[in-house]
Amino acid sequence: MISDSHIHTNFSGDSSEDPHNSVAQAIKLGMEEMCITDHHDFPLPLSISAEPLEVGPYVSYLQDLQRTYEKQIFVGVGIELGLDPMCADALADCARSYPWDFIIGSVHHVRAMDPYYPLFFEGKTEKQCFGEFFEATLENLRAFSDFDTLGHLDYVVRYGPNKNKFYRPADYFDIFDEILRFLIDRGICLECNVSALRRGLGQPNPHPDLLRRYRELGGELITIGSDAHKAIDIGVPFDVGRDILLGAGFTHYAVFKSRKPQMRKL
Ligand SMILES: [Zn+2]
Ligand SMILES: [Zn+2]
Repeated sequence: MISDSHIHTNFSGDSSEDPHNSVAQAIKLGMEEMCITDHHDFPLPLSISAEPLEVGPYVSYLQDLQRTYEKQIFVGVGIELGLDPMCADALADCARSYPWDFIIGSVHHVRAMDPYYPLFFEGKTEKQCFGEFFEATLENLRAFSDFDTLGHLDYVVRYGPNKNKFYRPADYFDIFDEILRFLIDRGICLECNVSALRRGLGQPNPHPDLLRRYRELGGELITIGSDAHKAIDIGVPFDVGRDILLGAGFTHYAVFKSRKPQMRKL
């Protein structure tokens, strides 16, 4: 079973899952590793997570959890950092101040607003908003990039008025190529986040065209995450994600320990 590298628990404002349940589910599924990656978003208007994470107690808790289950599964001490150029110093401080196994860098905000809220799309075309989100992603990378994988690159298409119905990744390849080359040059992974498949969007984030583009440009480092906020969603649907990745030309994916990638066969 593919190891899940993107899991939320009740340390995230938008999850009420007991971390022990999450570990039990991953063990039940036969995973050899898993990584808990709760949200740490700095407070901004309309932020999806209500409060920033208390990082110290969170890390201690996960280290205890790691020890408790070490004979059954490797539980990674991870975090999903919400990127924002205004918070670059605080993000850098968080990345280097704790013994992380794995850090996801994710854009959840543009103009201090989460596209999760319809207000983000008001007064502009969907295409403008998508483009703005991708431009902001590149701006974020230039401001702070001390993380191991770029989370759900085209997250914004989950929430447009028409979701991904009119989304064509090729329309944005100019900006995507810059983003993907940035990752490749620095050895940062691209995440294949399968949660949109559970929501019926028919694509992971990013879209298979982007996974193929990354491969064409020489990208090899992929991480896989369910972005589960409930234990029952862990590893779902990794069978579909696996087929998409194989179809895009990948043979392996990465899991992280002490921020070092280890390659696993798909
Ligand atoms: Zn996220
Ligand atoms: Zn997440």
